[in-house]
Amino acid sequence: MNPTERKPNDEIVESMKGVEKAFILGCQGCPIGCETGGQPWLDEMTQLLEGAGKQVTGSALIDMICNKAIVGIKLGRIVDQIAEAQAILVGSCGVGVQAVGNMVGRRPIPAMNTISMSDHQGLWPSEERCAQCGQCVLAQTGGLCPVTLCAKSLINGICGGTGDDGSCEVSSDRRCGWLMIYERLEALGRLDDYNTFNEPRDYRKRAITDANRHTMRWALEVAKQEEQDEAEQPTAN
Ligand code: SF4
Ligand code: SF4
Repeated sequence: MNPTERKPNDEIVESMKGVEKAFILGCQGCPIGCETGGQPWLDEMTQLLEGAGKQVTGSALIDMICNKAIVGIKLGRIVDQIAEAQAILVGSCGVGVQAVGNMVGRRPIPAMNTISMSDHQGLWPSEERCAQCGQCVLAQTGGLCPVTLCAKSLINGICGGTGDDGSCEVSSDRRCGWLMIYERLEALGRLDDYNTFNEPRDYRKRAITDANRHTMRWALEVAKQEEQDEAEQPTAN
């Protein structure tokens, strides 16, 4: 499971500046356990975007957005609604947002931040990775994660060390993540996003906030911690 928290509505609207037509896609996997997604989220986002003067070309909920095979089947049936949109607002963890960006030639915009689950990484069948940084910047990077694709996890790139062949200076057998982001933005016609300054990472944002310590995900974590504490109690002789 990749836990999520909703981004503030004004941040979502700001990310969609210049977008007139948008499609909304929500995940019914992890966001259900975190109480961030599902039909209520979809309804709220539709109202938010329409209230901001945007046309919603369509919307859908998918069980596991991180599974590209499922995404392909579902979106294949509504391809016209996707084609009409300039961007897709995605309510899922960072893996799901990246999967959508890799599947569809449209700009994916994250509606959620993926937060840390105490070093546990979810399992998913694709190559997309999310480091649960709590400050998702995929709206500015064309849907490619700089934290996991850049060897230095730079959220403002490029570092200047990229090889002539496009390889990373840290490891020549991998392609420079920021070059990939540049190429993605160019393909999307969004090169201005490359000049957007992303705020330095605030590592406190990786952790769950007090406001969300009532969710199903939190209850599971507390139960696990209590079990651990009990196991570590010294036994009486
Ligand atoms: S920027 Fe990357 S690491 Fe951070 S939440 Fe988004 S996908 Fe995950
Ligand atoms: S060469 Fe690219 S991927 Fe490697 S550290 Fe520099 S910006 Fe990051």
